[in-house]
Amino acid sequence: MNILKFGGTSVGSAQSISALMDILIKGKHAEHPIVVLSAMGGVTNTLLDMAESARKGEDYAETLKKVEDKHFEVIRALLPASAQNPVLTKLKIYLNELEDILQAVYNLKELSLQTKDLILSYGERCSTMMVSHIARQYFANALFVDGSELIKTDHNFGQAKVNTELTENLIRDFYAGNNDKLLFVTGFISSNDEGRITTLGRGGSDYTAAIWGAALGADEIEIWTDVDGMLTADPRIVKKAFSLPELSYTEAMELSYFGAKVIYPPTMIPAFLKKIPIVIKNTFNVDFPGTYIRHNVHASSLPIKGISSIDEISILNLSGSGMVGKAGFSGRLFSMLSREQVNVVLITQSSSEHSITFAVKPADALKALALINKEFELELQARKLEYPEVENGLSVLAIVGENMKRTPGISGRLFSALGRNGVNIRAIAQGSSEYNISVILSRSDLSKAVNAVHDAFYADLKKTLNVFCLGTGNIGKTLFKQLQHQMPFLAKNNDLQVKVMGVSNTRKMYLDAEGIDLNNWEDTLNEKGEQADLAEFIKKMKSMNLANCVFVDNTASHNPIRHYLDVLQSSISVVTCNKIGNSAEYDQYVAFKEAARKHGVEFYYETNVGAGLPIIRTLKDLMLSGDRINRIEAILSGTISYIFNNFKGDRLFSEVVKEAQDMGYTEPDPRDDLNGKDFMRKMLILARDAGYALEEKDVAIESMLPPACLAASSVAEFYQELENNAAHFENLKNEAAKSNKVLRYIGKLEDGKVAITLQMVDDSHPFYMLSGSDNIISFTTDRYKERPLVVKGPGAGAEVTAAGVFADIINIGKR
Ligand code: ADP
Ligand code: ASP
Ligand code: MG
Repeated sequence: MNILKFGGTSVGSAQSISALMDILIKGKHAEHPIVVLSAMGGVTNTLLDMAESARKGEDYAETLKKVEDKHFEVIRALLPASAQNPVLTKLKIYLNELEDILQAVYNLKELSLQTKDLILSYGERCSTMMVSHIARQYFANALFVDGSELIKTDHNFGQAKVNTELTENLIRDFYAGNNDKLLFVTGFISSNDEGRITTLGRGGSDYTAAIWGAALGADEIEIWTDVDGMLTADPRIVKKAFSLPELSYTEAMELSYFGAKVIYPPTMIPAFLKKIPIVIKNTFNVDFPGTYIRHNVHASSLPIKGISSIDEISILNLSGSGMVGKAGFSGRLFSMLSREQVNVVLITQSSSEHSITFAVKPADALKALALINKEFELELQARKLEYPEVENGLSVLAIVGENMKRTPGISGRLFSALGRNGVNIRAIAQGSSEYNISVILSRSDLSKAVNAVHDAFYADLKKTLNVFCLGTGNIGKTLFKQLQHQMPFLAKNNDLQVKVMGVSNTRKMYLDAEGIDLNNWEDTLNEKGEQADLAEFIKKMKSMNLANCVFVDNTASHNPIRHYLDVLQSSISVVTCNKIGNSAEYDQYVAFKEAARKHGVEFYYETNVGAGLPIIRTLKDLMLSGDRINRIEAILSGTISYIFNNFKGDRLFSEVVKEAQDMGYTEPDPRDDLNGKDFMRKMLILARDAGYALEEKDVAIESMLPPACLAASSVAEFYQELENNAAHFENLKNEAAKSNKVLRYIGKLEDGKVAITLQMVDDSHPFYMLSGSDNIISFTTDRYKERPLVVKGPGAGAEVTAAGVFADIINIGKR
């Protein structure tokens, strides 16, 4: 025989009750199952609210009417008119009783735990009575059972303790007389020896099912809910959570104890003792085979089974010399709290014995504080103990699994995932069973933390990078195209998912917690976007508080730079093709790097020099491996290369510049290329990466432009001046041609000094052969002395630059 328990959502509407009936009708049960039901979804909370309103002298009539409507609606939808009346009448009787009790609370302005339980009991009684009548259309022998009389408990209202022996006998006796019926039993409610209604604690219907299962030696206890069984994490927090096929009783117990609400922790006890399997199934997806909780589970390859969390927790910290070496101090503390019914969720003690930190539900915090102040009054007055304080706004995250015991490095992985994402840990506890490690952290970090930890432990799942992009010019647009195109490959071959969560240009910005569809990001931005505001964009990005976050700057503007430090300090990696940041004051360059290092995130800027060419990375590898850079020579202006390579025949210099701009090779303002400023920035960044603390003024730039061109005040005027000075450029060209040389604008770092000069080189020079917009760089080092290490290739253009940004993003994902 099986016990089938259906939770609140499974009896929450006419539609779900139909699904439930279907499950009963199609179920192939050799014997009648026993059906245990919860209150309709949301009703228990509503009853609590009404009780509180009544106590405060507020109106509750309207809410009560809503509860009535909720039930009546189901009856009208699922019963023929002729069968409705008797059920409506019975419901009305229950609701009238409830109203009388609420009225009494209202009159007295007093709400005891006992009365609260009585009020709550109407939720299960109404739903179960109603569903049993609906079932009679299909099962003539359906019988409604108010189970409160069969489960006997102590007087601990709100969370009563079951008298197992008595209860099992009562259930067995009852069943012996009714085993030919299809029983519909109220979950959650019970009674004490005086016959007063008690409850088994929130979520307690699961427990009712297990109590019945154990009493009657059921074959299986089926918990029907609204998700595919127990998942690796709460699916509302972690989108990638997946269903677990199997758990041991201990694992299920620990996961639910630390917040996996899908099953109520005490449920496991009767099932464990009688070795009855529990299976969690989905009312709304009957094909899901279920999560089995049982003995002798198969070996699992997962390092941990799941991550659960308790949203709201408070901690108290007790410290002082009075605790040192005092045997029994913590015993005294915790037995006092337990005696007074304060449930301690977890405890950590420092090894010096100087302090004990423990966590309780926020509702218990002040009570715990008062109890401590009373119990330890003398020690506190004598200053042997510090007065404890309550700290709120915290959450618990726990990882659970029996494999933890056998797998080293689990806690390392946990802490590094949290650390990398800037999650500060307040306290740590490892259960003595070693089946769980739990940490206390700030509530505002919880969702990020659970996602980061999930990513860290289920490596064979896709890791998600949450990307926020500034700039939708050439590079930004191309990056989105590349991302969109490459997504399936990344998912398949790199287990990586890049989600664009926010995008902004100077006009509009748009952020979306679900991610932005790259097929139509432009329409989305234009239609749904709000007025751009960089500070606001960053604030929103930070408040989304996502794991594995990357801020991408695809602009050439000063504005974003101001925010880099703040972004890095918020544990968000930065990828930038914007050179302005790294080439401004040296102190700022150092501060970026320091912030990234300190907060365990990345600051990548490969495209600052040579677009997608691996220049920065090569230099870094040389330095890391202990090589010393003696000289760097480079042509790093793809734009100027392009211009010199195409300044041939009778074309005007200005025409070639215009062409380069049209092809996207220049900076947004071509003057930044031609006045050597862009080149200077690149050389400065290289010099700094090579270990020299240089400033802009330390770079000697020989201009290739006549003074009038440099003085132009706008782009248009600049082009005009280039035309006016056509002869200057013509001369340069002819002079070079005369001696079989070519014009090259070359940067050099040597002896800690940087210079950029216009040179004419012949075919013996390694930089003579250079086509299109190519960059070339040669590193002469201690190891590459005779033949320098040369990197050469296309060093400008949106396609290669976006690809470089892309590679930086992917490299963050590889960490
Ligand atoms: P019922 O009303 O059926 O008893 P509950 O609301 O009590 O259902 O429990 C089911 C809910 O538990 C799910 O909808 C889900 O949001 C939440 N939940 C939290 N953690 C987990 C987890 N690890 N696996 C599955 N569900 C979880
Ligand atoms: N209805 C009760 C609650 O909401 C019991 C349950 O659903 O399991 O807590
Ligand atoms: Mg539940």
